[in-house]
Amino acid sequence: MKLLVQKFGGTSVADADRIHRAARRAIRAKQQGYQVVMVVSAMGGTTDKLIELAREISDDPPRREMDMLLTTGEQVSISLMAMAIHAQGEKAISLTGGQIGLITDAAHMKARIQLIQGDRLRKELRDGHIVIVAGFQGVDNSGEITTLGRGASDTTAVALAAVLGAERCEIYTDVDGVYTADPRIVASARKIEQISYDEMLEMASLGASVMHSRAIEFGKKYNVEIHVRSSFTDNPGTLITHEVKKMEEIVVSGVTLKKDMVQFVLPKLPNLPGVAAKVFARVAEKGVVVDDIIQVFDDKGLASTSFTVERNDLPDAREVVALIANDFNLTGILCNDPVAKISVVGVGMRSHTGVAETMFKAMAEAQININAITTSEIKISCIIDTEQAEEAMRVVHNAFDKGNLE
Ligand code: ASP
Ligand code: MG
Repeated sequence: MKLLVQKFGGTSVADADRIHRAARRAIRAKQQGYQVVMVVSAMGGTTDKLIELAREISDDPPRREMDMLLTTGEQVSISLMAMAIHAQGEKAISLTGGQIGLITDAAHMKARIQLIQGDRLRKELRDGHIVIVAGFQGVDNSGEITTLGRGASDTTAVALAAVLGAERCEIYTDVDGVYTADPRIVASARKIEQISYDEMLEMASLGASVMHSRAIEFGKKYNVEIHVRSSFTDNPGTLITHEVKKMEEIVVSGVTLKKDMVQFVLPKLPNLPGVAAKVFARVAEKGVVVDDIIQVFDDKGLASTSFTVERNDLPDAREVVALIANDFNLTGILCNDPVAKISVVGVGMRSHTGVAETMFKAMAEAQININAITTSEIKISCIIDTEQAEEAMRVVHNAFDKGNLE
């Protein structure tokens, strides 16, 4: 029997009306002959409120207890969803991560899925139930409740789709798909019909906050088709899928913007073996997550290294940089705060030339200075001033908009 996983995010279950609407959608799929597994997030804002509450109680709550607390949000929404489906005359049952045998490692608040047993789930499906699974939660080997990190209901959904061999995983959200750029900034941005896993992964890490990255990785690994679409309309959304030839014809699929970044420049480091290792050992010791790293050397035996971090890591990053300055007797360290990163993404870059030129020229014409450039096979990123970031997004999108963007 064909099977569908439908995931509903917080805004799609934010009140009784919306829960009923989501329930209707699942029932419709069931009537079309699918077995239906729903994965549901906590009602919109709930997880934030629970975190807020914990902070009022303690500056440093035990992570185990945070998981105990946060998983209650999903338990509310799954039970309400089951009631809504019952009220509409269909059979449904809600199940927690533990009840479906979603086993994770023991890393509270950022656990990773190790195994999904799924026997219970399959049995309930065979018995004709729409099965409603709590997103974002599991249990470790000793039965302790864990969570998979903020936004990870997407990951629960795609992982379940993989394990159950679902025809598709539908992600219902408050936007109607993935756009060529943020439509709040770029009025001419368009919905992308189809995008490859690799492009979507790049876009997610470069600032397009549509889906949890780990969910996309799962999709890629297990070849799960992911359909991101609006829970408020019946319009088709964006299909995230394996790469097909015609994707290469589109040079740039999307333009993304990441704000609230900080760039450090460490000038005049010795250009010698082991220096970069020592610098980034300091970074790792503090657990600071580094985004881009660039190093260049000169003819005097010196090298200059720059790296970017997210702005909420700034206090830790400053401490790290002070230690590095001390290690190497550095002076003249620069800290550009804040900066933004604008990127163009597309598998078509592999086979087309002139993409960098088009991007840089568009910014030059708008008098936007580029502080740093990094590239991968399918993206080009520039670090620029935050004040010019939105303008940059518009001019770059415009430059590729002549039949090139999806
Ligand atoms: N409720 C969790 C969160 O807000 C998980 C999710 O919604 O995906 O992060
Ligand atoms: Mg989400």
